[in-house]
Amino acid sequence: MSTYRDFTLAHRGAARGTVLRTIGTRERRSHLTAPRVPTVGIDIGGTKVMAGVVDADGIILEKIRAETPDKSKSAKVVEDTIVELVLDLSDRHDVHAVGIGAAGWVDADRSRVLFAPHLAWRDEPLRDALQSRLAVPVMVDNDANTAAWAEWRFGAGRGEDHLVMITLGTGIGGAILEGGQVKRGRYGVAGEFGHMQVVPGGHRCPCGNRGCWEQYSSGNALVREARELAAADSPVAYNIIARVGGNVSEITGPLITELAREGDAMCVELLQDIGQWLGVGIANLAAALDPSCFVIGGGVSAADDLLIGPARDAFRRHLTGRGYRPEARIAKAQLGPEAGMVGAADLARLVARRFRRATRRRVERYEKYERYARLGRRDPGAADSKAAEPTAADPKAVDPMGAGPTAAEPRAVEPSDGDAP
Ligand SMILES: [Zn+2]
Repeated sequence: MSTYRDFTLAHRGAARGTVLRTIGTRERRSHLTAPRVPTVGIDIGGTKVMAGVVDADGIILEKIRAETPDKSKSAKVVEDTIVELVLDLSDRHDVHAVGIGAAGWVDADRSRVLFAPHLAWRDEPLRDALQSRLAVPVMVDNDANTAAWAEWRFGAGRGEDHLVMITLGTGIGGAILEGGQVKRGRYGVAGEFGHMQVVPGGHRCPCGNRGCWEQYSSGNALVREARELAAADSPVAYNIIARVGGNVSEITGPLITELAREGDAMCVELLQDIGQWLGVGIANLAAALDPSCFVIGGGVSAADDLLIGPARDAFRRHLTGRGYRPEARIAKAQLGPEAGMVGAADLARLVARRFRRATRRRVERYEKYERYARLGRRDPGAADSKAAEPTAADPKAVDPMGAGPTAAEPRAVEPSDGDAP
């Protein structure tokens, strides 16, 4: 027995050692020790960019937004908008890092946006482009990941070690958090739950497939069903037809939710349908991932129990092994539409710390070189002293991190003196 236990512990220790070296685990440990400085979070949607200064407790100190004008949305337009917003905020606040939550696929290094359905970004090196213009460290992540992070840190998912976030907006976004770490997958695009097939040969999805989950459980699905009934002049839709003055295209998700709250039978039923499909998908996710908590966010979640009640029922009916396993909690998100922004800002604080440490190491190295130079000695550690000495004279000339981070040094280093332990 004891031999076995010893082996397990030793093995676990080894595994832990390996894990601790990964960036992800650094993220997991460091959110508690990251510098308690304000950072900027940015949420990039299809038609607007929202930016806010967020403190270490997730409190929004100031929030501004800008429209991204035309539908073409060249990468440059969005980039310029972000820079303007950050510069505007940095007039009134100390900005230590910038985090960006983008509706799109972000690569595993979190530097490039591989693809954004609503914007003209295709393999766009967003992080480096912004870092060189803003002179502070920048972090880029998928907006569902940043929203999930915010809910885990400050919202409905606090204290949950295994959390799955589902964002019901026009489509379905998703994110997985395990042990305080966002699971991004090997290529950075994990969590695309909306395109799991739930109905073979079902509704056509813009992704090119048929029967995707988001065709049955999302804001678009809700509006599509309501418009179909209204366009067919169904008696159950008379109330909503009257509300939009016969103009079916004016039916929206918030209107359906509002009518459902007032007791309109059709709208209640439509939300029930959406909720049921939500429960079916959640049961599938529970079979695959077995989390302790599902957090439901996004615009449609405003329907509260009209949506989440039916989802819980369907989840219990479809959960594999039901009755013989603990059931995950299904909770409504607490941070609302600002979750993505708050999470982006909080994740950026981790980059701020890493950056600060790297800067400090670099500064220490230069000081050492200078000391050696003063004493008329050569650095015994440097293999090529000729390469090392120009570094002492002009650190910026050989800065391995490029012009951007170098320019950020004053901002990133100065405040660290204040909050250093
Ligand atoms: Zn799809």
